Amino acid sequence: MAYCILTIALDTPLNSCFDYRWPCAPGAEPLAGQLAQVSFGHREVVGLIVNVGDRTDVPADKLKDAIAVRSQLTPLSGDWLALAAFAADYYQRPLGEVALPGVPKNLRVLTTVALDRAIKKLAKLGASGAASDATAIDTPPLNGAQQIATDAIGGAVGFTPILLYGVTGSGKTEVYLQACAQVLARDANAQILILVPEINLTPQLEGNIRARFPGLTLATLHSSLSEGERMLHWLAAHQGQARIILGTRLAILASLPHLQLIVIDEEHDPSYKQQEGLRYSARDLAVWRARQLAIPVVLGSATPSLESWHHAGSRRYRKLELRERAVKDAVLPRVKLLDMEKDKPKDGLTSHLVAALRQRIERGEQSLLFLNRRGYAPVITCETCGWISECTRCTAFMVLHKPESRLRCHHCSLELRIPRNCPTCGNVDIAPLGRGTQRVEEGLRELFPQARILRIDADSTRKKGSAQAAFDSVHRGEVDILIGTQMVAKGHDFKQLTLVGILNPDTALFSHDYRASERLFAQLMQVAGRAGRAARNEGGSVSEVLVQTRYVAHPLYAAVVGHDYDRFATSLLEERRQAALPPYMYQALLRAEARELAVAIEFLEQARDCLAHQGITLHDPIPMTMTRVHNVDRAQLLVESCSRPALQAFLKAWLALLRDIKSRVKWSLEVDPLDI
Ligand code: ADP
Ligand code: ZN
Ligand code: ZN
Repeated sequence: MAYCILTIALDTPLNSCFDYRWPCAPGAEPLAGQLAQVSFGHREVVGLIVNVGDRTDVPADKLKDAIAVRSQLTPLSGDWLALAAFAADYYQRPLGEVALPGVPKNLRVLTTVALDRAIKKLAKLGASGAASDATAIDTPPLNGAQQIATDAIGGAVGFTPILLYGVTGSGKTEVYLQACAQVLARDANAQILILVPEINLTPQLEGNIRARFPGLTLATLHSSLSEGERMLHWLAAHQGQARIILGTRLAILASLPHLQLIVIDEEHDPSYKQQEGLRYSARDLAVWRARQLAIPVVLGSATPSLESWHHAGSRRYRKLELRERAVKDAVLPRVKLLDMEKDKPKDGLTSHLVAALRQRIERGEQSLLFLNRRGYAPVITCETCGWISECTRCTAFMVLHKPESRLRCHHCSLELRIPRNCPTCGNVDIAPLGRGTQRVEEGLRELFPQARILRIDADSTRKKGSAQAAFDSVHRGEVDILIGTQMVAKGHDFKQLTLVGILNPDTALFSHDYRASERLFAQLMQVAGRAGRAARNEGGSVSEVLVQTRYVAHPLYAAVVGHDYDRFATSLLEERRQAALPPYMYQALLRAEARELAVAIEFLEQARDCLAHQGITLHDPIPMTMTRVHNVDRAQLLVESCSRPALQAFLKAWLALLRDIKSRVKWSLEVDPLDI
């Protein structure tokens, strides 16, 4: 019997590729990209074959035979393996940890028989892969700018990164859809990947896509699918039946053999960055994948990330602009600042904002109040002794949740009953300080007892499907005042909304995080962009955005009032250049966690001193801003270089040394961190 040597990636820490022997006739070897079952330690696991060869460094008496090769699954392509290898290499993680979670769990754990049955089900589902002629379905005529953008995207050949910079409501979705139609019509196998930042935005776009391409197989990939659904959708993509694949960031690692176009909607959104495990940026991987496949990639936003703005400025990305709202007679809302020093808020609302809300209710129009803080109050305090509801396990306050009569830590999930009196001095007058969405909702109900008020935040939408039901009721006009966190700020096309009130944005102005102003600006523009999306009635007034602030003279607010992203972004970029910050600098962050802060810092100091390298700056270790979470102290060390390859080379050599440092800390490395 002849044997071949399979190099198999397993989902294990550190080095994750292992050699196994497999008996096979010459010419009948398994293929790279197939799954194989092997024994590892005392377990049987499924791994991914990354190479099939005829030699190994493992001594013959140590070399084990693989148990089975799952040949019924079409192998993952060389392109896909290259993507996984790149992601592993760039983010400094083992290959198996990247490649295996990319394959649905059911495909890894199911028996061969069960797998066959799945695959059969798919054959039925995928019968309708044909691109029914999309042009026959009624599509709105594009305006001039939309047409130019659509043709540029639909007609792009080869690697073409495109920044679609279009104000909120400018009809970017229509551009994506009609560009997709061009690509699908040109190639009967073409697949298109569309990413959105939030699960809650998938139903809206899914509806649009299904209405536009009724016969087409659409796959969705996001974290709330059941394992069975995930496998079905993943296979539809992998086997080429699904022509459009709509998903959140994790979909960037889907297997797509005929991928011809990638669209990243709201490309500036921080949710494209995975914040644990493999800390990848789906946007950056999308651009890499497009280059590898020599296809166009569209990054759409009304407030592009400074990275993308920078690339457009230096002409590495092609910039396409949509400067006007698409719906005839819809115009951008008028933004006004309400001075909280002059018009003192009561229950969180200035009299001006209350009057504006009343007017909308009378007119039968919808309003949205945006407050990025859930719960009733961020903290409760004792006025006598100054006691504050701090979490005993975190550097954070316990948030008051009134409906459940609970104090909750949003970082470690600790829950306590609300104390009757002050734990320190016994005083009974302990009171909530500040306000979250629940408290604003309570105030509104007293103020407008007849109004239909709906709160949408992580607390009100815990039940599966409840977020969608809530958004649907807003679309059906069953809500007068919507109050919500960032969940309501993004992407939704609320047609009847004519007033947006922004309640407490000032805190972000003075954050030590250098990205805070970029984020705040994007968030304000996005939430403001929910207003005035429909055509105005005859003689109807322009919709309004009212921002309550104590800093009416702040330049960030001036830019928001002027809808002036261009100038604001350009000046922020200039600041970044002078301060040598990204995108003019490349960064990595080494984080360490330990029971005592000193242990974490000591590890980082050793790390800082273990390898010197030209062109690399290693900063001093510092405690993280929120130092303690769930009784663990956290510290970080920032590494910088103005050369990406130099940083990459350093990290590789450095990681090998870090693994040898004897320490009790848990550490992790993040490349291109967003929060530092
Ligand atoms: P964006 O994603 O740029 O914020 P949308 O794609 O949600 O904007 O479009 C805003 C609204 O404009 C939607 O209601 C959409 O149906 C409408 N729309 C888009 N293009 C056109 C067009 N060419 N003519 C009329 N309405 C349009
Ligand atoms: Zn007290
Ligand atoms: Zn806590």
